[in-house]
Amino acid sequence: MRASSSVPALGPALMSAALLCTALLTPAKAPPKAPPLAQAAAKVTAEGAYATVDRLTSPEYAGRLTGTGGYEAAARWVAGECKRAGLQPVKEYKGYLQPFMVRLGGLDGATLEILPGDKAGQAQAQAFFKDFMPMLQSASGDVAAEVVFAGFGMTAQDLGRDDYAGIKAEGKVVMVLRGEPKDGRDWTKYDGTAAREANAHAHGAAAFLMIDQPVLSASGHAEGAMPAALVSEDFGNRLLAPAQLSVQDLRRVLEKGGTASFPTGITVHLAVKAREGQDRPGFNVVALLPGRDKKLAGEYVVVGAHLDHVGSWPALCPGADDNASGAAALLEVARAAAKAKDRPRRTLAFVWFGGEELGLLGATQFARHPPEGLRYCTAVLNMDMVGAGTGAYVSGGKNFPEIYNALESARDHYAPEMTLVAGESSGEPRADHGPFQALGVRAVSLFGSGGSHHGYHTPGDTLYFITPKTMEAVGRTVLGAAFGLADAP
Ligand SMILES: [Zn+2]
Repeated sequence: MRASSSVPALGPALMSAALLCTALLTPAKAPPKAPPLAQAAAKVTAEGAYATVDRLTSPEYAGRLTGTGGYEAAARWVAGECKRAGLQPVKEYKGYLQPFMVRLGGLDGATLEILPGDKAGQAQAQAFFKDFMPMLQSASGDVAAEVVFAGFGMTAQDLGRDDYAGIKAEGKVVMVLRGEPKDGRDWTKYDGTAAREANAHAHGAAAFLMIDQPVLSASGHAEGAMPAALVSEDFGNRLLAPAQLSVQDLRRVLEKGGTASFPTGITVHLAVKAREGQDRPGFNVVALLPGRDKKLAGEYVVVGAHLDHVGSWPALCPGADDNASGAAALLEVARAAAKAKDRPRRTLAFVWFGGEELGLLGATQFARHPPEGLRYCTAVLNMDMVGAGTGAYVSGGKNFPEIYNALESARDHYAPEMTLVAGESSGEPRADHGPFQALGVRAVSLFGSGGSHHGYHTPGDTLYFITPKTMEAVGRTVLGAAFGLADAP
């Protein structure tokens, strides 16, 4: 499928007028030299990336949850493509695959109901996948207890905030809202799902609910201390109605730095049946383009994207945008780089990360244990959800202006119609550049921007909503920047 170009075509009349002007005004001289990577960049195409997304989202790969056979099959397919492209494997890995272990649980079923206030009333069953979704690593449990609302669910002594002050959470179902005070301070430490859940557990909660939209995120990071689920804003509003409050009201107060914690007076029944966790192998796919300068070949630039997604429970989540799009753009970049006329002085390492959805496991593994012989990582360019929008948001672009400048200059040459925006990154725990940044490496992630990421973490994230031209533009830009950075003096 072809995406329509966003650049309007010049009419024939306008075109000849423009040519005439150029002819009259410009003194005769040699045509400007094409930028060095023009030929290679042209090999990064929307069609090629689209075909890869089509393949990676097929049922054969079952939503690419790290640790499953579907993920391993996808990793082996990418490895085969690297071999076909003529890229080098890492000596100590088997077939381009860097192994690491993941602990994989799973769920067999779950119910959530609002219990009636009196004996005459009826329990209201909540709709699975619409009103609630148990977290993938929830513990088994069967809890009927009152719901206590605990704001953002944070106890942040250093920042002077405690959402549990004045409430009794022990033995209760704690419900919190995802979010953080919008006061410019760094709440990262307290902002994650696992941190909130651990805090609820520390306060003696019997079960944990987090209001989050959309509710269909199957990826949980919690350690399975108690039954836990995401719930919808509608569900939250149902529980808040007797207090004449809404989720929106509470969010407004909480984002301003206020607190709102109180018992709701409503009892719910949450039952989750979880499977015993198992240790399973996960993989990064790693392919190298060795640097041409022997003295600098131990220095390298990582070009990455996560290959994994959230799997197929209870329905196939194809993860076209998240992140078959980045994996596809990366494959285009790797193939084009392999064919480029001049290799850069430093080594390029193309890495398809596994375990991103389970907590950036693959990126952490690679950042801490790079291949032998690769000694110093000079930059990381990661692509995540680049299958939507008209441009790219560069998380970390403000932290690392040298990388951002390299991206801008490559964009100007190879994808001039694309917008780029630099953002600040605090080593945020939500993308694969994070573990590198945490180790002091210059690292950024590019996300598709200026469009909507349809069906995020749901069965709705399909091929049909992908914008192939964005993958092409981001891929060409990343290729140019990677060569620029790997060739820098
Ligand atoms: Zn994701």
